[in-house]
Amino acid sequence: MQEIKIGLEVHVQLNTESKLFCSCSTKRGEPNTNVCDICLGFPGTKPVLNEKAIELALKIGYALDCKINRKFLFSRKTYFYPDLPKNFQITQFEIPVAHKGKLKVRDREIRIRRVHLEEDPAKIIREDDYILLDYNRSGIPLAEIVTEPDLKSPAEARSFLQRLEQILEFIYVTDLNKEGSMRVDANISMTRYKIEYNYSKGGGITERKKGDQVEIKNISGAKEVEKALSYEVLRQKNIKEVKRETRLWNEKTKTTVSARVKEEEEEYGYIFEPDLPVIELSEEKLNKVCSNLPELPESKKKRFLKYKISEEIIDTLLTEPELTHYFEYLCETHNEKASAVILAKYLKKTLNYHNLKLRDVGIEVRHLRRILDLLQQYLITDDVAEIILREMVNDYINREEIREPKQVLRDLDYEKPLEEEKIRKFVREVIRENTKAVKDYHRGEEKALDYLIGQIMRKTGRRADAKRIKELLKFELD
Ligand SMILES: [Zn+2]
Repeated sequence: MQEIKIGLEVHVQLNTESKLFCSCSTKRGEPNTNVCDICLGFPGTKPVLNEKAIELALKIGYALDCKINRKFLFSRKTYFYPDLPKNFQITQFEIPVAHKGKLKVRDREIRIRRVHLEEDPAKIIREDDYILLDYNRSGIPLAEIVTEPDLKSPAEARSFLQRLEQILEFIYVTDLNKEGSMRVDANISMTRYKIEYNYSKGGGITERKKGDQVEIKNISGAKEVEKALSYEVLRQKNIKEVKRETRLWNEKTKTTVSARVKEEEEEYGYIFEPDLPVIELSEEKLNKVCSNLPELPESKKKRFLKYKISEEIIDTLLTEPELTHYFEYLCETHNEKASAVILAKYLKKTLNYHNLKLRDVGIEVRHLRRILDLLQQYLITDDVAEIILREMVNDYINREEIREPKQVLRDLDYEKPLEEEKIRKFVREVIRENTKAVKDYHRGEEKALDYLIGQIMRKTGRRADAKRIKELLKFELD
């Protein structure tokens, strides 16, 4: 038996135009091109704080239900490593931007210890016998979100991170599509209980063995965090004594390897950053950030549930803020259920297939309204609505202008859907022509039904819905 305690430190790259303490661009670009004497840490340079980064960190604080510190300061965390040439990182230690928050994951509340701002170090690229450094990343603003050790399993850690990602996307503070935009350090400690039944005494004896905390550094993405922690649980179960240490997750070998003995926070020798003032936020500024905070996914979900749409479809809409915005626009003119289905089923399926987001592809609300009109007037079937959307996404992929739905229909040489009576005629024809499959179906072979549907679809030239064909066919057969 065991008890697992997991705490996470999540580093999120904030969406700002310029770096945290200088005016260098945060864009990727050729290595070591977006740099200046401040983010390269030249002696005598002075940091200038980016206001936008504070705002984004505040948004995170509010979204995670934190207490906001109106007054906070920055500190230097001393360490000697080539990714930070000035030998210290400007971060927050004593008073962070926000603290004491919470995030609900399923039915459990995970406490957020703090949210603070810090600068990202340079990116280290490890080659066989040397390392490369890209200082473009040095000085990019990070928000570090630290949880209490409240998570009880690797799977729960993953769920937490997925919830967190969703919130961060909805409040537009980071671009999760960018590689390395979210990096996680995970702390795990396991207490093992040994229970042996003692027959003479009629009870159990418990031996309690508390393992030291192990930190796994620099894991990217929720899925990898779950894998790394699962590996670590197995590893710790199979060794006698767990040492306090820092380990690294290797995505290729799917193992953690020891990196060094873990430092205590105090060992970094924090000192106040003398080149930055103590920040004091006005009530007005805080109110502004708080009142401009976009609606959070949880609250949207509550509202959408009132439309009598399945929870599964709503959860799909909630995978991207734009899907929910589009949904609300469509609802102004069209039926809620039809609007939800066209987005969450047809469009999302195509987007997922190409690993794209709605915001990428340039399909507009008016395009979707046209498709809903066509559906409403029975000019197209659901199958065809899906084909139109697939074509429009292909336009984006082929770097062509997105065609209007009606143009897509013309290009496909599409004819109006068949009338019910014509479909019935084909159904009966196929039944007559395929006596063997009909017999198989009556003997209980479901596959035979799919075969028959396929035959009818071919006759109709995709001008009838598979779902409707199935209904009519079953009506004739049963
Ligand atoms: Zn710079």
